[in-house]
Amino acid sequence: MYSCEIISVGTELLLGDILDTNQRYLSQEAAALGIAVLKRTTVGDNIERLSREINSALKNNDLVLLTGGLGPTADDITKEACCACMGFELKRDEKILRKIEDYFKNKGVVMPPTNAKQADVPFGEGANVFDNTCGTAPGAAIEKDGKCVVFMPGPPREMQAMFEKSVRPFLIKKYSDGVILSHSVRTVGIGESAMAERVADLLDSKNPTVAPYAKEGEALLRVTARAESREDAERLMAPVLNEIFKRLGDKIYDVDSSGLQETVVKLLKQKNLKVAFAESCTAGYLSKRLTDVPGASEVFECGIVSYSNRIKMKVLGVKKETLERYGAVSAQCAGEMAAGVRRISGADICVSVTGVAGPGNDGDIPSGVSYIGVCTDDGVFTERFETKKDSAREYNRYVTSSRALDLIRKQICKNSSNSV
Ligand code: ATP
Repeated sequence: MYSCEIISVGTELLLGDILDTNQRYLSQEAAALGIAVLKRTTVGDNIERLSREINSALKNNDLVLLTGGLGPTADDITKEACCACMGFELKRDEKILRKIEDYFKNKGVVMPPTNAKQADVPFGEGANVFDNTCGTAPGAAIEKDGKCVVFMPGPPREMQAMFEKSVRPFLIKKYSDGVILSHSVRTVGIGESAMAERVADLLDSKNPTVAPYAKEGEALLRVTARAESREDAERLMAPVLNEIFKRLGDKIYDVDSSGLQETVVKLLKQKNLKVAFAESCTAGYLSKRLTDVPGASEVFECGIVSYSNRIKMKVLGVKKETLERYGAVSAQCAGEMAAGVRRISGADICVSVTGVAGPGNDGDIPSGVSYIGVCTDDGVFTERFETKKDSAREYNRYVTSSRALDLIRKQICKNSSNSV
């Protein structure tokens, strides 16, 4: 088995100004490729200390993965350190320079002269330069004497895009025997540890491997097989996936989806249904997430953000006496909001959310409590939903919108067999 060390570069990381999420991402990706991560390190913007760490990592591993320190300023020293340790030189690449200039031109600004430094890349045999599709700093993998150093930009969005497009295929070719294939089984409404418990024995499996991951308000199991061909990898995974489906049932909302919103849009399209929302505490979050999915216009009728009681009454037709008697955060109000947006939109599935986003309680209603209403041809139903105790406002709003999306999914799948 090949091994690697992951090095994050940046004094900001050492100071605790930013959380190192790149290490987590790269650890998961390396594990999925069957590469053992033996050490993770963080080094400040100091070329001597970084070079020392790279040399020591190279002594003990086949591969070193680095992120950060590829910026245009003098304290960005990662590629210089990598090239020095591996005996490579940097050379200005005119094509990359033009791309960087265009990047700034498209933003309507002149490229600061220091940015030209980012077009200096390792060259010669063993140097593989990777394009940065979301920013200016290219990455690279440099190989020599059976060892390899890969450096990528620090910003997670740039790093992940580069990893997916260039680094993963490179690593598969060089460090994996045959084919490595993964499926992500995505669940909602069950915590990571409860999910892992239900499949505990499967987590010891070697091929395919089964690994649990936590996402905000969700959990997923990644099943990864290594085989000579795609077909063989699928064959190895099939019984394990079936067992997971059996054990997790309708907690699973999809396989290989990028998120609940993508699954919901896909199911709505399949069934030719439309949705509309009336949102109070999520205030547009639900509409935003649904419309993050390209093509959502085919299934999304409208979203009404009815934050004040006045608008709940005036636009959605919530009764004054409902608000006086039960309050805005109540099942009764949620039901009337859902019915109201259905009257306005005529959509097949209309969903409302009213709740307490926090921080702090609203009277005797704890923060994180919400009522979700669903109105369809079958009538109106409501649900009381509660997130984790003392959660932050952002988390409450996100997880509540996830629950609403999941209720839509369940509504669509109620009368059909394709729940996944
Ligand atoms: P740039 O070209 O933007 O300067 P860079 O490759 O030099 O990128 P850094 O300057 O080290 O990267 O980091 C830029 C930003 O990326 C940091 O301020 C931080 O927000 C984010 N970042 C860097 N490293 C990490 C990391 N390990 N985990 C999470 N975020 C990171």
